Amino acid sequence: MPAAATTTESPSLAGLAGEILRLKAERRAVILAHNYQRPEVQDLADFVGDSLGLSRRAQDTDADVIVFCGVHFMAETASILNPSKTVLLPDALAGCSMADMISADRLLDLKEAHPGALVVAYVNTTAEIKAESDICCTSSNAVEVVESLPKDAEIIFIPDKYLGGYVQSRTGRRLILYDGWCPVHMEVREQGIAALKREHPRAVVLVHPEAPLEVSAMADIVCSTEQMVKAVAAHSAGEFIIGTETGIIHKMRRENPGKRFYAANDLAICPHMKMNSLQRVHAALRDLKGEVKVPESLRARAWLPIQRMLDLGLPYKESFVGCKC
Ligand code: SF4
Repeated sequence: MPAAATTTESPSLAGLAGEILRLKAERRAVILAHNYQRPEVQDLADFVGDSLGLSRRAQDTDADVIVFCGVHFMAETASILNPSKTVLLPDALAGCSMADMISADRLLDLKEAHPGALVVAYVNTTAEIKAESDICCTSSNAVEVVESLPKDAEIIFIPDKYLGGYVQSRTGRRLILYDGWCPVHMEVREQGIAALKREHPRAVVLVHPEAPLEVSAMADIVCSTEQMVKAVAAHSAGEFIIGTETGIIHKMRRENPGKRFYAANDLAICPHMKMNSLQRVHAALRDLKGEVKVPESLRARAWLPIQRMLDLGLPYKESFVGCKC
């Protein structure tokens, strides 16, 4: 990974946003931000969304520079999809604990133990892992991706055992799961949701499928972050308990000022996602530092499973996955 962008000679906080917008125009850049980013970064972004939406934006943009406010595997995916662009990750050390749980060697061992099995890789993986996989998925489309595979296929699902377990329960298909998980979503717990539900009995509970299965089982709606954003806007209820990283609540409050949102756990904060401060976005644009680039031989192999997923053309669901309301 390249060295982290420096923040020397940064303008005052008050002028930072204006300076970023000026540099953005000068560099012909677009700023993409994940739903878990800091509020002030989301407010500056051209597009805020989940992994699938961001991948599509990265692929379609005609900007010269993509400032990717997310974590490393997301910027890498953007570069794989659009290699002619300069993709910048404001803090090059922003990784993902789940993506780090699986190595190419471990995946190769798993493939050797299950010859002929198809590998479905959650996008929360490195380019090396994607290059050894057959098709990618996001939390938006994991169920549909698995359902698109031949009925008799043996399927290895990596690396998130909880998303994989959720897909198993929705599809009825047995998957070979890997023991990976997200420490942030482990903070979304049954007790916290039960306590909030006692306090706000009419609140609708939304949980991300990276949460443990017993937590997902308590939810009215299990879905990805972008599906959550759409669900709370469309739902007639006025109160919602949100079982995912807390950063998404900023967007929900901004877009639904009349509704109330309660984090299932205020401590469900991804430290990696929060590394992209305004100062670092500014420094990345100013110095064009923090470029994420994948060597061409690896890129071509990692591109195929991502493109196979995008080619399925799966739209965001209008009726939400697992809604019990
Ligand atoms: S929330 Fe979890 S899965 Fe998402 S980037 Fe952070 S550690 Fe990785």
